[in-house]
Amino acid sequence: MTDPLTPVLTADWDTDRAWTLDAYRSAGGYQALDKALKMAPAEVVEMVKESGLRGRGGAGFPTGMKWSFIPQDPESPGGGKPKYLVVNADESEPGTCKDIPFMMATPHTLIEGVIIAAHAINAKQAFIYVRGEVLHVIRRLRAACREAYEAGYLGRDILGSGIDVDLVIHAGAGAYICGEETALLDSLEGRRGQPRLRPPFPAVEGLYASPTVINNVESIASVPSIIRGGHEWFASMGTEKSKGYVIYSLSGHVKKPGQYEAPLGITLRELIELGGGMREGSELKFWTPGGSSTPLLTAEHLDMPLDYESVSAAGSMLGTRALQVFDQTTSVVRCVLRWTEFYKHESCGKCTPCREGTWWLVQTLQRLDEGQGRPGDIELLLDLCDNILGRSFCALGDGATSPITSAIQHFRDEFEAGMHTPSRELFPPAASTLF
Ligand code: NAD
Ligand code: SF4
Repeated sequence: MTDPLTPVLTADWDTDRAWTLDAYRSAGGYQALDKALKMAPAEVVEMVKESGLRGRGGAGFPTGMKWSFIPQDPESPGGGKPKYLVVNADESEPGTCKDIPFMMATPHTLIEGVIIAAHAINAKQAFIYVRGEVLHVIRRLRAACREAYEAGYLGRDILGSGIDVDLVIHAGAGAYICGEETALLDSLEGRRGQPRLRPPFPAVEGLYASPTVINNVESIASVPSIIRGGHEWFASMGTEKSKGYVIYSLSGHVKKPGQYEAPLGITLRELIELGGGMREGSELKFWTPGGSSTPLLTAEHLDMPLDYESVSAAGSMLGTRALQVFDQTTSVVRCVLRWTEFYKHESCGKCTPCREGTWWLVQTLQRLDEGQGRPGDIELLLDLCDNILGRSFCALGDGATSPITSAIQHFRDEFEAGMHTPSRELFPPAASTLF
């Protein structure tokens, strides 16, 4: 096994009432803030850069570098405008379930990270944009936010430092597309959430056309421990280019699905072992490294290190580290159909390749699932994917094609069987069937 597991983000999840300010402070909470407020903003940015922290929302963009794009010179373009920090807590990628349990367990870690990050980029206003359906999380965050204001960690002159930061917990309305950063900004501004053209990136022109850092929950929540433990400590975990620890969401045909915190570079085999192994009688058939918008992998990739570089080299993406594990009872056609129905439903309709293409993909996959596929349907699917990938306005369209093209690559025979035999006959629904 890679390094022994040293939980950081999840260390206090089992502590009694870990979400309260008292419990958080007893575990050393807000000490990093105290330290960071005594540092110059540029020093904090440098420390995060040196740590090698990469965005935990899926893309893996270097966090410190993103912060350094915020113009600070009042004479430079955008430098005189207010700066904003927005936390993307709209976790919705199928299979991804790390930010929501994290915010339920220890919301103050996120709030502490928000205040430090806001200080680093000189933002006086921060927002946490939370997925609308998770009312329990919204309530918990708001309660923690109130506690932080009352204790003087938020508001004016934080801990006597002269620094002001306000935080708003904003509830979205449950649209997957609002997790796309520019659609999120439109939604936060009160409009229908649809992606904006990039560039300009939000760091240059974001919320209210002002410089804005948008980071995932886990990225921001990783900051207090970097400040406390130091960048060398953080960078000592993980691999050469993928540093630190992360939360993996493990689900599917394993004995103990759940969240597992481990360094980047651990393998799926090791994580399945941590999850108690495969269920009785289950053999790994395929899996997703980062949710359903990342190309499927197979048992051949069990020992591949889960870091950005290795997963890309295997033809997929690490994404959100949502490891969905499927066994031999799963119909890949039915599984891919379910995901494609999701993307069709969530397509915002702004661009034709995604809006129309996902509809055609569903029609074709439904035929194959019913055993009524027509000659040429596999080529039709591949042609549709080819016309969506790289021609859509945002990553949703591209992501919708990934499970289809990879499934055809690995399991073409199952798609061919869809010309004459329904999936439910080849893979009869059983108690253990996930799709
Ligand atoms: P991206 O690579 O385009 O951008 C990543 C981040 O880097 C963004 O914040 C972007 O503004 C910034 N950036 C990139 N280039 C920049 C530049 N030149 N200057 C300034 N900033 C720059 O990725 P994306 O489209 O934002 O996100 C795609 C990812 O989202 C996928 O990898 C997927 O895994 C993930 N995703 C996550 C969820 C979830 O629920 N967490 C849902 C859907 C998708
Ligand atoms: Fe909207 Fe899909 Fe186009 Fe993205 S790719 S802008 S979700 S229609």
